Amino acid sequence: MTQRDFVYTSHPARVIFGSGTTARLPDEVARLGAQRALVLSTPAQKAQAEELADLLGDKAVGVFAGAVMHTPVDVSERATDVARSLKADVLVAVGGGSTTGLGKAVALRTDLPQIVLPTTYAGSEMTPIIGETEGGAKRTQSTSKVLPEVVIYDVDQTLDLPPGISGTSGMNAIAHAVEALYAREANPIISALALQAIGALARALPVIAKEPRDIPARSDALYGAWLCGICLGSVGMALHHKLCHTLGGSFDLPHAETHTIVLPHALAYNAPAIPGVMNDLETVLGGEPSNALYDLARAIGAPAGLSELGMPPEGVAAAADSALANPYWNPRPLEREAIAALIARAHAGERPL
Ligand code: NAD
Repeated sequence: MTQRDFVYTSHPARVIFGSGTTARLPDEVARLGAQRALVLSTPAQKAQAEELADLLGDKAVGVFAGAVMHTPVDVSERATDVARSLKADVLVAVGGGSTTGLGKAVALRTDLPQIVLPTTYAGSEMTPIIGETEGGAKRTQSTSKVLPEVVIYDVDQTLDLPPGISGTSGMNAIAHAVEALYAREANPIISALALQAIGALARALPVIAKEPRDIPARSDALYGAWLCGICLGSVGMALHHKLCHTLGGSFDLPHAETHTIVLPHALAYNAPAIPGVMNDLETVLGGEPSNALYDLARAIGAPAGLSELGMPPEGVAAAADSALANPYWNPRPLEREAIAALIARAHAGERPL
């Protein structure tokens, strides 16, 4: 028997999951009572957006294929102007976190409903979080106004995600679930989802690395990514996310690769404070968890060290200082020397201790 004491917040969303589920889009637009969809994408995924517009026929009023990384305010304002001038009554976003971010930004300004078709494992579609950039500064807020009404997960939309991005995007998703297990707001519902998600992604990612169009593996990965998105949207994150944010911002490192490299080391740092979580992780990962995550990163062909991403060696001490600059919650107290050692190992690409 277990004594339980927790708070659990769930976010409303209608989720349709499967293969070929894109075909359900016209019904979902009709279900929302909408007549005039604006389809959003990045320039690279314009063809996918145009296919959706074709599928919607006269229920689509346009395609805005201008989504870019980090949700810059000027792009969001342009897309908002387009939505208003076309009298759009629903937003349809097809893509990864960048396109979902644009949809959220337009919804924030217009209150339009959103239907999202995710094509990466970023998980933004499940969170009430939006980070917008303007003049080099990022402003992040959490508001239910940006939560998509409907998410259509179609495994087929993910088959062309390049294997390298698939692997690191999947590891980034795993990081959300790992930190959810030891979050201050951790609760049994989210922990159950997190463990299921980590297991599914850990099984799927090495298969996808070898066989990018393997549908069962893609299905497991997308399912895991959905659950990881719920984890990210439901509880606070800790040392790992803080370190990645600091490292990414200070040295302009790529987001998903940085998460992939740092995660085994951040988990090893926290391990002494979270024996129960380490036991649970060992069950789903099939070995000592920090090393299992390090090996998983090798199996997907990810870079091993931050040095390979271009971080200079003298950055290690500075990163340790800035990771400690604003105190935040973490299961193990933040110790300057141990954190500097953690970053040094991640920089060199060594195994976690
Ligand atoms: P992304 O959306 O920028 O996609 C990367 C590139 O891959 C783009 O050019 C995209 O068009 C292309 N691509 C995506 N899916 C593809 C597919 N299936 N086939 C071929 N090409 C495809 O990258 P991302 O990692 O999904 O998202 C990163 C962004 O999302 C970051 O800005 C991050 O901060 C944000 N994010 C936000 C949240 C949140 O809760 N607000 C959560 C996670 C990530």
